[in-house]
Amino acid sequence: MSEHIFSDAIERVRRIGENAGVSQDVINALMHPQATLTATLPVRMDDGSTRYFTGYRCRYNNILGPSKGGIRFHWEVNRQEVQALALWMTIKCSVVGLPYGGAKGGICVDPKQLSAMEIERLSRAYVRAMADFIGPDMDIPAPDVYTNERIMGWMMNEYETIKRVKAPAVITGKPISLGGSLGRDDATGRGAYMCIRQLALKKGWDPKNITVAVQGFGNGGYHVARLLHNAGYKIVAISDSQGGIYSDKGFDVESIYKGKQQTSRVTALYCEHTVCELVEHQAITNKQILELDVDILIPAALEGVINRNNVNQIKAKTIVEIANGPILGDVDQIIQAKNILVIPDVLANAGGVTVSYFEWVQNKNGYYWTLEDVHQRLENLMNKAFNETWEIAQKEGCSMRDAAYTLAMRRLGSAIEAHGTQKYFSQ
Ligand code: NAD
Repeated sequence: MSEHIFSDAIERVRRIGENAGVSQDVINALMHPQATLTATLPVRMDDGSTRYFTGYRCRYNNILGPSKGGIRFHWEVNRQEVQALALWMTIKCSVVGLPYGGAKGGICVDPKQLSAMEIERLSRAYVRAMADFIGPDMDIPAPDVYTNERIMGWMMNEYETIKRVKAPAVITGKPISLGGSLGRDDATGRGAYMCIRQLALKKGWDPKNITVAVQGFGNGGYHVARLLHNAGYKIVAISDSQGGIYSDKGFDVESIYKGKQQTSRVTALYCEHTVCELVEHQAITNKQILELDVDILIPAALEGVINRNNVNQIKAKTIVEIANGPILGDVDQIIQAKNILVIPDVLANAGGVTVSYFEWVQNKNGYYWTLEDVHQRLENLMNKAFNETWEIAQKEGCSMRDAAYTLAMRRLGSAIEAHGTQKYFSQ
């Protein structure tokens, strides 16, 4: 699948762009990543041997500003995947109206097989290889799958050591004590929650009647489940890489989170203070969780999980994409024909990059905001992006994904056209 993920991603841009009447100059510009660096990262392992890992960074497009995107540590990372993720970041930053282009990075590694010290050496090796490719005004990384704030702190420190300057704005998602922003930890889940709240207003939903399944219980999945549960939604299924749990009565999200911290897996628990007990549930697989008949399905793990093999089994009425690219482009039409409303990744998970942008602004100014301030600014931008997308979908009779891409491409188009297009130069 991952060999096709980039061609699938650019095909989607072409299809949506042409349907929306976006100029061919803009579509062409989005077909080509500006630069992708592949590097070998030698790392001294704890047993004294040296292992060689492959790292990537793609700066996809920077017409709207310095490029921005996370770094992923995963055994399936490859050049095609990184380029697809960088293209989606380009669209996403434009949907929310951030002054950023898109980028992405990653290392092909199973981080669960490495010690903490090996992960630190690998993180620093990545920055040594990429130090001239990234920078506070050029390309700004952040966390993604299996990377976290500690890793961002090591990476910032390595960059500053190489450049002999203090440069907190080179990376976002850092620990608060090293220049991170309040509110970055749950920003992705919170942004998705804000989209669901806007949708609930349009649909007149009563949260207690709305069932939700969440695939992936990491940074994005946990926080959206927590916020939805607190707002009264019924979280009936949760999974992580090892499998999932289902109960039509709904779960207490915080108890499951507590259990996962202790046992490293999702367990159907209900906890009162320090006492936890197992609650009635059914064990389900990651395939089954996607096929549940729920009101909202939230894929929050990896891309490509809804594809030609399972699209006909999908029964959810709404899909909120926290993962990047969970629905492959070649099944977009089938999903639409099934009348499933999709809040696309480029909108639903944009809360993360939005608060990363806030972190970068604070680092550049040396002036730090309160949590209330961050939440309010995030809400303003997410609600604006959601409603602008909704308007286009209503007016132009298209899906929310097509509307979000159209919005993004029109904004990118204004910048690209400002430099002159074929029409201007051939007059
Ligand atoms: P994370 O590493 O915190 O969590 C990933 C979760 O997915 C873990 O619970 C893991 O067990 C689970 N998982 C891994 N493989 C799985 C599988 N095959 N089936 C089911 N679950 C599996 O990562 P995250 O930061 O929450 O990122 C998740 C998704 O959200 C990714 O697609 C990422 O690109 C996207 N995203 C994250 C952010 C962010 O700020 N963290 C922002 C935008 C988008």
